[in-house]
Amino acid sequence: MELLGKSREELQALCEAIGEPRYRAGQIYEALYAQRKLSLEEMTSLPKALRERLAQETRITLPVVKQRFVSSDGAIRYLMSLPRTEEKATARAASVEAVFMPSEGRQTICISTQAGCAVDCQFCLTAQLGLIRNLTAGEILAQIMLSLNDVTTSGGCNGDPNDRQLAPQTNVVLMGQGEPLLNYDAVMKAMRIALDQRGMRITPRHVTLSTSGIVPGIERLAEEKVRPKLAISLNASCDEQRDVLMPINKKYPLRVLLDACKKFPRGSREYITFEYVLLGGVNDTPEDARRVAKLMSDLGRVKVNLIPWNPGALPYKEPSAESVSEFHRILLEKGVPAFTRYSRGRDVMAACGQLALKDADNSLLPVLR
Ligand code: SF4
Repeated sequence: MELLGKSREELQALCEAIGEPRYRAGQIYEALYAQRKLSLEEMTSLPKALRERLAQETRITLPVVKQRFVSSDGAIRYLMSLPRTEEKATARAASVEAVFMPSEGRQTICISTQAGCAVDCQFCLTAQLGLIRNLTAGEILAQIMLSLNDVTTSGGCNGDPNDRQLAPQTNVVLMGQGEPLLNYDAVMKAMRIALDQRGMRITPRHVTLSTSGIVPGIERLAEEKVRPKLAISLNASCDEQRDVLMPINKKYPLRVLLDACKKFPRGSREYITFEYVLLGGVNDTPEDARRVAKLMSDLGRVKVNLIPWNPGALPYKEPSAESVSEFHRILLEKGVPAFTRYSRGRDVMAACGQLALKDADNSLLPVLR
């Protein structure tokens, strides 16, 4: 039986089944998720006899870090291979990527929720892989745990071998490969453990789930008691444009998507973030900016992140510096909080829309089967 990804309740059932008291489940849960002890030998809070018993009856399966690319800006991109699992839906081996981005006083980890993606956004390299498979809750959590453990053992955020401390604030963004809301159950199972203050202890307001606009998933997320913040990958100012850039828009057009956003509950200082990748000559005109401002006008607390396109393998152009600043200016003038974000890790293919299993030579890696 696989331990990684098991909830506290599932661990309690396991302990009962093997004749151990229920409190042992709490000890396993804490060692695994709060202390990130990824082998039974390391879980020294458990009696040796129990560790031996668990070693016979359970396992902890971790992705294997195949390659680790360090960007000049400090970001680290991990290429991880996922073994086959015993469950039918995840019986195929696959590869995914996670990106660790350190910055002053905090660290952000971008994780994948599916291997490849079926959504087919035209500006996204991951789309070219198609959907390979969904990740399990354990595989989603493992990306956070492995990157945090790697950074502490490899010398802290600054690469200083004497600095083994993590930054005080850990942010997690579900913006790597895959559409999180098309793998809802595994994603939310992982998030309940990540956000549990007895589990991985990540603060809910520091976790952001980004979706291409899967409306039934947004509505389901709105009902969750504890949930990540919501981000929408918008990238277009009207249906005509979005139908081309993000064909999912034909199924969930802007009117339906924005209505779900309007109803989405928000805490006292919580915003829905709209991400807008600026593609030179495609969606970056002043007219686009005015349309985006209008779309945002009656949605409640929202903000817009403008992300200038990273030139790469796809046939889009970087927007000019003038069009980026004019777009930004128009949004602010219309009262929409807006920020321009330049992607981290551009030189190691870790930036937005670039996660597609690229190796050091920048060639598309074969997907493991
Ligand atoms: Fe999938 Fe996100 Fe890429 Fe769209 S942008 S194809 S949803 S990974």
